[in-house]
Amino acid sequence: MKTHHTKVLILGSGPAGCTAAIYAARANLSPILVAGLQPGGQLTITNDVENYPGFAEAVQGPWLMEQMQAQAEHVGTQFLHDTIVSVDLSKRPFVAVGDSGDHYVGETLVISTGASARWLGLESEQKFQGFGVSACATCDGFFFRGKRVAVVGGGNTAVEEAIYLAGLASHVTLIHRRDTLRAEKIGQDRLFALPNVSVVWDSVVEEVVGEGEPAGVSGLTLRNVKTGAESRLDIEGLFIAIGHTPNTSLFAGQLEMDEEGYIITRPGTTQTSVPGVFAAGDVQDKIYRQAVTAAGTGCMSALEADRFLAHHGQIAAVAAQ
Ligand code: FAD
Ligand code: NAP
Repeated sequence: MKTHHTKVLILGSGPAGCTAAIYAARANLSPILVAGLQPGGQLTITNDVENYPGFAEAVQGPWLMEQMQAQAEHVGTQFLHDTIVSVDLSKRPFVAVGDSGDHYVGETLVISTGASARWLGLESEQKFQGFGVSACATCDGFFFRGKRVAVVGGGNTAVEEAIYLAGLASHVTLIHRRDTLRAEKIGQDRLFALPNVSVVWDSVVEEVVGEGEPAGVSGLTLRNVKTGAESRLDIEGLFIAIGHTPNTSLFAGQLEMDEEGYIITRPGTTQTSVPGVFAAGDVQDKIYRQAVTAAGTGCMSALEADRFLAHHGQIAAVAAQ
């Protein structure tokens, strides 16, 4: 068992964590980043990324994340492969314990453990992830211009994704397991007014069907939960919008969170309810959930950690006089 000390401890290696690391390293704070079970984060499970600025052509998600890690290491970040299993935020320095048994001691802490999209849990859904099955219309909708797509879910996200996709796709079918949506009425009214949207009520996806080389989705097998009847829906893109889960269970009871478990930050900052602990990326963002916004808040968290350390250094110097 080893103990690692750092001025800035960063948990998570997605765009938020890597960007925090780049800024903290360039501020001479010698950050340590603990990568977690998914090195590179959510973008490593997608193919084309077309909306991250700086690249005229689409780049591959895994490649983009390798570059971010290399950039962070190049400027002086220590990347460690471990997963944090417990933290103590009751006093500074903060202590995080890894799966390996190692202890990570940070004078400040940046939490960038992301969020995970909820999936239906079908084998066929997993098989076509990145090949017609997506959990992000803003990210992948563009690839389905002029095609038929479906969205699963009945909440605000599903309705917003369906409205967004209706502007790109030839037709959008919303599939919901009940006969009423839980989304706000205003969103429902907008959705139902669109000419190229239809809804399949009381239904669930039984199987995603596809073929070809490279693989692609061609349709869905649906089951009506009231009648048990099965039907086929021809589509080329399936968007799952049944919610996200922020990866914050580690911090439960130690940081202020909303009712869904997203970390609450002071508006316009990444400061959490514990001074010296910052939260960046999807772990504190249930609205935008984009790589570029995660990177933006990652940058903010490192700059704020730097200022926090500078301020506390001054207090210590005054106290010592
Ligand atoms: P994440 O990328 O979720 O990374 C979280 C990190 O935390 C991971 O490295 C994980 O290992 C680590 N972690 C978790 N728990 C622990 C722990 N206990 N200890 C240590 N580490 C831990 N956005 C776009 O802008 N453009 C796109 O084209 C795009 N496409 C997408 C396609 C898909 C299929 C998905 C799922 C998302 C897509 N997104 C896209 C969204 C984008 O990936 C996320 O908004 C972004 O990755 C969030 O970054 P993050 O750094 O906050 O967290
Ligand atoms: P949500 O409100 O939890 O809705 C999830 C939807 O997915 C529900 O309709 C649910 O069905 C369905 N669902 C869940 N598991 C399923 C499964 N296994 N199979 C099929 N369907 C399943 O999630 P969300 O829409 O992502 O919203 C999350 C939060 O963010 C909410 O508070 C929402 O209001 C908020 N939000 C707000 C805005 C906005 O204000 N503009 C936009 C987006 C999100 P049931 O209805 O049957 O449970």
